[in-house]
Amino acid sequence: MITATKYYKERFGHKMYKAAISLPVTCPNRDGTKGVGGCAFCSAQGSGEFASSCKQKVREQIDDAIKKLAGKAPEGTGYIAYFQSYTSTYCSADYLLRSLEEAMEHPLVEALSVATRPDCLPEDILDVLGKAASRFPLFVELGLQTSDDGTAEGFGRGYETSVYDSAVKALKERNINVITHIIFGLPGETEDMMIQSVRHAVRCGTDGLKFTCLYILKGTRYGTLYEQGKIDVLGREEYFDIVKRALDEAGDDVVIHRLTGDGPKSLLIAPMWTADKRQVINYINRRFKDLL
Ligand code: SF4
Repeated sequence: MITATKYYKERFGHKMYKAAISLPVTCPNRDGTKGVGGCAFCSAQGSGEFASSCKQKVREQIDDAIKKLAGKAPEGTGYIAYFQSYTSTYCSADYLLRSLEEAMEHPLVEALSVATRPDCLPEDILDVLGKAASRFPLFVELGLQTSDDGTAEGFGRGYETSVYDSAVKALKERNINVITHIIFGLPGETEDMMIQSVRHAVRCGTDGLKFTCLYILKGTRYGTLYEQGKIDVLGREEYFDIVKRALDEAGDDVVIHRLTGDGPKSLLIAPMWTADKRQVINYINRRFKDLL
């Protein structure tokens, strides 16, 4: 297994931290284009609960994020400008280009990472991303979550897995590094279905994977279903057993960017084992010590 830490060290020569940026864009699954209310697990703040205010300039957001990381990031750390919340390419190509350029001009930023949906990559946006990738290290993070179209319909993803397949192909044709997000524990999924999602992403040519367990957050459709006792979450052992299988499936060529996520504590309903970050990190270090 290649961890992101090892990968960054080899590629950039040192540790890299992510400075989260939030652009003032929404998501087609919220504004009515594909759906309203978002995916069943997504809180109203999108996936960018930790990002600075999107009203600030990109440069100011990067400065703020770096200040917040000051105690954690050692001297000589590099930063990845991480366009995180909602759907970062759900905007005009000109606006995306200006935003990426502002980040590239920041003296401490050494790479860009753009999180988006695979159905928000029209030709002009792909061209902007392709041009940026030819000048600067660029990652595009795609929220696949599952390769099973039935599961995806259940949480209201709003696109079919074939759209992801085409997006990966188009990004790879432009030499863009693709990271795929997968959620374990989606309602109705067996362990084999979760592993199948990993297999699918690897076969499509993803360069990296990010795993997370399903978080149940306040104010989401899954929050309501959980409180009604209609859905459940994975336990810690159960989740990491699946992660272990996923790592075996990913093999040695795919970079593992995350073994589990970090849900917003103020909104978290379940699973509560994820709330104690220190304990989760200790557990990961113990259980995966030979791989990290
Ligand atoms: S696509 Fe992403 S931002 Fe949009 S509703 Fe789904 S999880 Fe939230």
